[in-house]
Amino acid sequence: MTTRLYEHPIFLEHVTPPGHPERADRLRSLNIALEHPNFARLDRKQAPQASEDAVLLAHPEEHLLAVMRQIPEEEDRINQLEADTYASSKSLQAALTGVGAAMAAVDDVFSGAADNVFVAARPPGHHAEKTTAMGFCFFNNAAIAARHAQKAHGAERIAIVDWDVHHGNGTQDIFWDDPSVLFCSTHQMPLYPGTGALQETGTHNTIVNAPLSPNTGSDHFREAFKSRVLPALHDFRPDLIIISAGFDAHHRDPLAQINLVGEDFDWATGRLLEVADRSARNRVVSLLEGGYDLEGLAESAGLHILRMIKG
Ligand SMILES: [Zn+2]
Repeated sequence: MTTRLYEHPIFLEHVTPPGHPERADRLRSLNIALEHPNFARLDRKQAPQASEDAVLLAHPEEHLLAVMRQIPEEEDRINQLEADTYASSKSLQAALTGVGAAMAAVDDVFSGAADNVFVAARPPGHHAEKTTAMGFCFFNNAAIAARHAQKAHGAERIAIVDWDVHHGNGTQDIFWDDPSVLFCSTHQMPLYPGTGALQETGTHNTIVNAPLSPNTGSDHFREAFKSRVLPALHDFRPDLIIISAGFDAHHRDPLAQINLVGEDFDWATGRLLEVADRSARNRVVSLLEGGYDLEGLAESAGLHILRMIKG
């Protein structure tokens, strides 16, 4: 497998207030892990910045303008957009570079430049609804990547698999009535943002939620994957799999109570690569979402990326 990695120093310049869990040290910790010789085969590329127009693939212009209005000009200032979401002077550039990397990753798997791609970006995206920045997210990178695959590469069916411990309410909101995108999510329930019940299935039964009870672990996660996520993927036969790869279901994570270990992310990655091999010519684009324990994040994301390299 050729596995590409998109990174960019601008991702470290999106500044949140002291003590905020979504911080630049997350990427620093992952970058250190990726210096291991195991990752020598990674094809590392600097992420390109998307145009502002790219955001309009998944959000109305009013949302883009609302985010832009709240970006501070002063370098030392941080603006609060809502309860958990903050912007500094470089946040728009960082968010647009995350969008650009997700779109470039889609281009790469369709052109054959890479079999699969990991995007190590922040801020994350899966909580961003059509018109709402929330939960540390401005723009929904996974949704924009899916729309880009359809528009630029003629993809017909796209699956977005979200194993972040929080429900991907933004992605569900954007694709609620779109039969061309299957959205599958495992997440702790109850937990922020409160959505993601089994009965939330979308207009065309293309939303598949697999909520997990607090204090469960590998067995429940793998069972949910085997009984709900994998059968849905098997039936849907996607042309592309996009992973909303959050690593906050790791047992060390401070924001949730699911007890996964690093090997669970290796296992789940392997199962998705099998689906991609069957129906999507191996095309997998994985986008970093959450993961707030530095050690748990580095371990889990490292094993996920290693599985993508090995195939
Ligand atoms: Zn999360």
